[in-house]
Amino acid sequence: MSTTQESAPAATPSAQPTATQDIPGIVQRARERFNEDVTRPLAWRDAQLAGLAEFVTKEADAIQEALRDDLRKADFESYMAEIWPLTIEVADARKNLKRWTSPRKVKTPSVLKPASGVLRPDPLGVVLIVSPWNYPMNLVLAPLVGAIAAGNCAVLKPSELAPATSRLLAERLSNYVDGECFPVVEGAVPETTALLDQRFDHICYTGGARVARIVMAAAAKHLTPTTLELGGKSPCIVHDSAKLGVTAKRIAWGKFMNCGQTCVAPDYILVSESCHDALVKELKSTIDEFYGSDVQQSPDYPRIVNEAHFDRVAALIDPDKVAHGGQTDRSDRFIAPTLMTDVTADDAVMQDEIFGPVLPIIKIRDVDEAIRMVNSREKPLALYLFAEDKGVEEQVLSRTTAGGVTVNHTILHLSNGNMPFGGVGESGMGAYHGKWGFDTFSHLKPVLKKATWIDPPITYPPYTSWKSKLLSLFG
Ligand code: NAD
Repeated sequence: MSTTQESAPAATPSAQPTATQDIPGIVQRARERFNEDVTRPLAWRDAQLAGLAEFVTKEADAIQEALRDDLRKADFESYMAEIWPLTIEVADARKNLKRWTSPRKVKTPSVLKPASGVLRPDPLGVVLIVSPWNYPMNLVLAPLVGAIAAGNCAVLKPSELAPATSRLLAERLSNYVDGECFPVVEGAVPETTALLDQRFDHICYTGGARVARIVMAAAAKHLTPTTLELGGKSPCIVHDSAKLGVTAKRIAWGKFMNCGQTCVAPDYILVSESCHDALVKELKSTIDEFYGSDVQQSPDYPRIVNEAHFDRVAALIDPDKVAHGGQTDRSDRFIAPTLMTDVTADDAVMQDEIFGPVLPIIKIRDVDEAIRMVNSREKPLALYLFAEDKGVEEQVLSRTTAGGVTVNHTILHLSNGNMPFGGVGESGMGAYHGKWGFDTFSHLKPVLKKATWIDPPITYPPYTSWKSKLLSLFG
């Protein structure tokens, strides 16, 4: 792993779309491999997971280079947010493979005894993983870990908007894992549409809610279940009991990482009036501390993915409300970390997910007002609360809903593989990470096994009155 940032990005390789006429055959071959029982043996699954781990570690330099080309990500950030979480995810799956795949015993009601019951995890078959551009390596391979562990084949569709990462996956992943069981299909809308015409046993889609509706409609034709990992406006509530110095650092870290292009980034701040000015001051000095006085020169600050997203995010900045930052440079796809104050719910920046380095700050009178504002919107993917007051914490947790919550930090709840990662309502459905990923790509098949040494005739016809009386005793 290289930890230094190279200043001159290499030429971005263009993604090479898979020919759409080849797509049915690619999916068919994966299905044949699944039907040949290739993916079921635990030793095979473990070997594929080991191959995946090897890809991530041996190709770490190439992965960092691709992420630099696609998003000008700092090598440290690529390691922290893409490579390292993958190594943890794979190691966790390998360590727990035997336990996760073992039948799970359940209690048997006395009316059914003598009998025993288990839930037996079955692989689903051939799954489709469609991923976005913002964490383009992690969001392809992290769901793949669960899919492999559960014994599936998986067709991978990386984002065309991160072409260097897409190319790297298409060219090299098959050197480490079975390329027929885990093929990479490159391309954009036509290729994804061709994929969605095929029948899959599960679709895991990560991206925006508009395309999620297209994915779900296509899945409905085949009655294919879907996991939808979406986004939305994730609120960050700062109560006046919060420790403002550490609060500012943790918000700025979560917001400006990857130039704000993070699904769980704090989208906007709701801050108690009494500590508003102090928080803004702390955020300003934190941004300077993180990226220096000329952020555009900082090797640690990425770029907006393309011109279209640059134009969208830049248009959200109202110069009259900028409290810090606001500088943009379209030729470099650079937008400075920007704080906006005196923002209202009617402002353009408060309409949709920002997905960029613009942070609106809204004053609230009390925690009730913050809860009302959060609940007046769609259910967010993440919610952040900064407060030392336990009563406030309980109020916010018990009266709001979100895909996940971190208290007194940002982003971190999704780094704990013991917790599911996913949205709720408009921010998504289903979840993965750790055992949750394994379960997502499994069918927990209930198996009841009945003893034959005794066979009381109570449920068999003729249904006599003594049988009715006996049955009612179990009611
Ligand atoms: P994107 O444009 O890369 O699209 C995602 C995938 O959908 C790509 O593979 C793309 O080829 C495919 N696609 C695009 N249009 C399509 C169409 N018409 N038909 C079929 N497939 C199509 O990514 P995006 O949507 O810009 O991603 C950003 C969104 O993703 C944000 O809302 C963000 O919050 C969310 N996101 C969520 C998570 C999460 O884990 N919950 C992670 C990252 C991003």
